Amino acid sequence: MKYEWILFDADETLFHFDAYAGVQRMLTAYGVEFEEGHFEEYQVVNRPLWLDYQDGRITAAQVQERRFANWAERLQVSPLTLNSAFLSAMADICRPMEGAVSLLDSLRGRTRMGIITNGFGELQQIRLERTGLKEHFELVVVSEVVGVAKPHPEIFRHALELMGNPAPDRVLMVGDNPDSDILGGMQAGLDTCWVNWHGHAAPPGILADYEVRSLDELEEILSLKSGCAGR
Ligand SMILES: [Mg+2]
Repeated sequence: MKYEWILFDADETLFHFDAYAGVQRMLTAYGVEFEEGHFEEYQVVNRPLWLDYQDGRITAAQVQERRFANWAERLQVSPLTLNSAFLSAMADICRPMEGAVSLLDSLRGRTRMGIITNGFGELQQIRLERTGLKEHFELVVVSEVVGVAKPHPEIFRHALELMGNPAPDRVLMVGDNPDSDILGGMQAGLDTCWVNWHGHAAPPGILADYEVRSLDELEEILSLKSGCAGR
């Protein structure tokens, strides 16, 4: 195996992140009769917050405080209580992406594995435990804890340090988001694999070493890399 380490993004790479179902579950638990418009309303607020967070303009705490601010006022609870209720709903409905379990099983013992996520700490461990995937990963790096988000070089530097500073080209970064996972991996000198589920065009200047449409495809590529010391 060429790669000493494989770093995975979490949301929509290893785990489904069905925010629609999560918001629905959370609001229903507060007695709200859920309508589709409620989710759109949430996305209008949430989406720009994530872009601001990814670009370092606001902190993880600000995302968590602001994204449910409207609902907090309507339901007379604190925004962070709603945020926690949402994360707990997301943990309840979490499931691995198609091909994730097989891929991780196939890599077991052939490489070392970690997770590097822009998600929130609260959700990570519980999700790994519930899906039974925890044992695969030697490290889980969470942007909320590090203080900067992918693609910022610092979160990759931090992860590499925890990994004992392996040669960057012996590390593969796998993720579904070209702007955070692939750009960040490229800037850190890592090999990269874009899991391009929906066949989108790559943003200008972002070129992954591998591009796959499924985790099965990645499993196949990596099984061919067995015993191959370098390209
Ligand atoms: Mg992702």
